[in-house]
Order: sequence, then structure tokens, then C-alpha cells
Amino acid sequence: MKALADLHVHSDRSDGLNSPQELVEIAERQELGGIALTDHDTLAGVREFMEAPISGNLQRVPGVEIGTNYLDHDVHLLGYFVPFGESAIELSLQTLRESRHARFPKMVKKLRDLGIAIDESEIQRVLREVASPGRPHLARILIDSGVVSDIREAFTKYLASGKPAFVDRERIELIEAIGLLRESGAVPVLAHPLLIEDIDLKGFLQKLKSQGLEGVEVNYGYRKPKLMDSIEGLRKMTEDLGLIVTGGSDSHGDEGHSELGSVGVSVETIDVLRKVSERIRNR
Ligand SMILES: [Zn+2]
Ligand SMILES: [Zn+2]
Repeated sequence: MKALADLHVHSDRSDGLNSPQELVEIAERQELGGIALTDHDTLAGVREFMEAPISGNLQRVPGVEIGTNYLDHDVHLLGYFVPFGESAIELSLQTLRESRHARFPKMVKKLRDLGIAIDESEIQRVLREVASPGRPHLARILIDSGVVSDIREAFTKYLASGKPAFVDRERIELIEAIGLLRESGAVPVLAHPLLIEDIDLKGFLQKLKSQGLEGVEVNYGYRKPKLMDSIEGLRKMTEDLGLIVTGGSDSHGDEGHSELGSVGVSVETIDVLRKVSERIRNR
């Protein structure tokens, strides 16, 4: 059996529950071949992730997941082999995080206006290590204070687009984000495309490829059974276009997503991504 690489994982620097070092420990315990850290709009956990001590030969990929806009669709873009430390991309991500920070109190206010008491100390506790706050943080506060029973309920009642506590934030345009990743030498990969509603996937992928997209996250823990038929179609489209097939769990350490190591691709995909990253850098 080929060792598995889980190329989509969140830490507590965005909306995951585990620290970057804990993620490395879990991956080693599960005997994964590889893991990528892909926090939302931040590289804050990448150094800890890359430098955490390991005892075996787990391969680690420094990554990011950028929330972007494409014709009013909310599209997530993964970047692999992102340079961390001082870099232009860190500055652009900072702008996106500022819009996340600005949104959070607005959502809290909307909930309070609905008569839901939210304690200031709760907010501080939940956001303590967080560089990139998101709606799951607020969902966890709602669960802890007994307002809802799980993350799904928090979103369907209050936090999803169109629901009473929803506040939109500034998002970078998808094509611009692809360019941003490439300029920094990172490999742009489209995240979980079957979650994008009402889109002509084939035309979309062709267009993105012409703009520099290198891969598509095909293997993903999609929860909707009707999407299962489309996964094989997506795989074929991706291969026909000569794009790299990637995969990952999107683990957040909570019940809202698949578990770390439950979905992924062969660890050799990491070599493919590394080579593409080198090609982008040496151009
Ligand atoms: Zn995503
Ligand atoms: Zn994700």
C-alpha cells in the first residue's frame, strides 16, 4: 500500500482545533506519508508545522487556503510550497485577515441584536491563538453556550450566507489569487470544486488552467452522496486537462469535516507539486 498524504489540514491558527505541532504528531501516529498545512488566509502556523520534531519520514508541505471570489461564487484556492517568513504573499494575506477581524464583531453584534448573549471573555478565549478568525469560531461559542447543538445548526440557523447573523467579508478575486501564489513560487490548486454551486465545471477548469491553475482537489470528504457520481467525472476532467489530482480531508479537528488522514492522495503527489513549484520559481 502506498503511503497516504493528506494535503488539506487546518490548525488553530485559523479555525482548526489542534496546534500545528499536534497535527504533525497525529499524522505520525496515523503513519501518514505526508501532510500539508493549509490554514485560511494565514501562514502563521507554517514555521511551527515545518519545524516540529518528527521521528519518522513524514513529508510536510507548507501551504495556505485562500478564500476568493469568482463571479459571486465563494471559491477556495489552495497554495502548496508557499514561502514562509518575509514575503509579498504574507502582506496580501494580511489584508484578507484584517477583513476577517473586522467582520467578527459585526457578526457578534447581529447575534446580540437577536437576543443571544455572547460573553466577551468567551470570544477572547476562543480567539486566543487565532491569526485568522472565521465563522466556525463563532459557531463553537454558540455550541458552548447552548444556543445550538452543533456546527451545522449554527450555520443553517445563523451564520450561513443569507442567514440573520451573516456578514460578508472582502475576498480577493480568484484569478488574482492564482497570480499571487505563482509570483511567490507556490502551486495553485482549486479546493473542493464540487462545493461550488451552479457552475459549468469543465469551462471553469479550462479557464483557470489558462490562468495558471496547476491542480484540482479531487479526493475530498464530500458529505453529499449525490456528489459521489460527479467525483469520477471531476477526476477525468482534471486528468484530461493535464492538471494534478490532489486530495485531503479538510480536517479541522472537529465534527464539521472529515478526520485527518481519512482522505488524501499518494505521497508521490508531493514530489509532483514540489517539481512544479521549482519550475514556477526558476522561470
Ligand atoms: Zn475550503
Ligand atoms: Zn479548508
